[in-house]
Amino acid sequence: MINILQIIKTLEETYPNPICALTYKKDYELLFAARLSAQCTDARVNLVTPVLFKRYQTLEEIASADISELEDIIHSCGFYKTKARDIVMASAMLVGEFDGKVPDTMEKLLRIPGVGRKTANLMLGDLFGKPSIVVDTHCIRITNRIGLVKTKDPVKIETELRAIIPPDKSTAFCHRLVLHGRVVCTARNPKCNKCTIFAYCERNMV
Ligand code: SF4
Repeated sequence: MINILQIIKTLEETYPNPICALTYKKDYELLFAARLSAQCTDARVNLVTPVLFKRYQTLEEIASADISELEDIIHSCGFYKTKARDIVMASAMLVGEFDGKVPDTMEKLLRIPGVGRKTANLMLGDLFGKPSIVVDTHCIRITNRIGLVKTKDPVKIETELRAIIPPDKSTAFCHRLVLHGRVVCTARNPKCNKCTIFAYCERNMV
């Protein structure tokens, strides 16, 4: 039987400062940083967004941006054509339908171009302090290894984690999984001998 509360407690002690790795100053900056982070590292995104948000300082400016100039700025993040189009269309929607603010419900967030449940959960948790489950590659890998879930389906993982993680712990728990996944429970060669949740991990119970 997996002891989820003990896992949460141990990760809290191991990673006392579970902040989002993406840097931002305004609500929509986090939204677009998250869009850029698909198939790209947070470190790369954090190099690109200061340039992007210096060139375009308001949502209105992004909404009316020359698309090829914006593409050039975000080019190094990959999938730059799709991402540029999403960012411009999302800016127009935020201005036109949401009073220039990132909305605070899953339903509204999912209407924004380029926003899926992962990004929507990130917004709910980090911008609005609502319980969120951000199912990214680290979350999928580690929760399966630990034995909390037995599926790679992000929606199923979100549902199953919501059922066992206290709501007030869920946002930080997912940030801690990212930290754990980068340093210890890496995709290849996880460092189980240095893992603080080793004793609770199903991978080591066979
Ligand atoms: S014991 Fe190994 S597989 Fe389990 S969470 Fe730790 S690093 Fe990952």
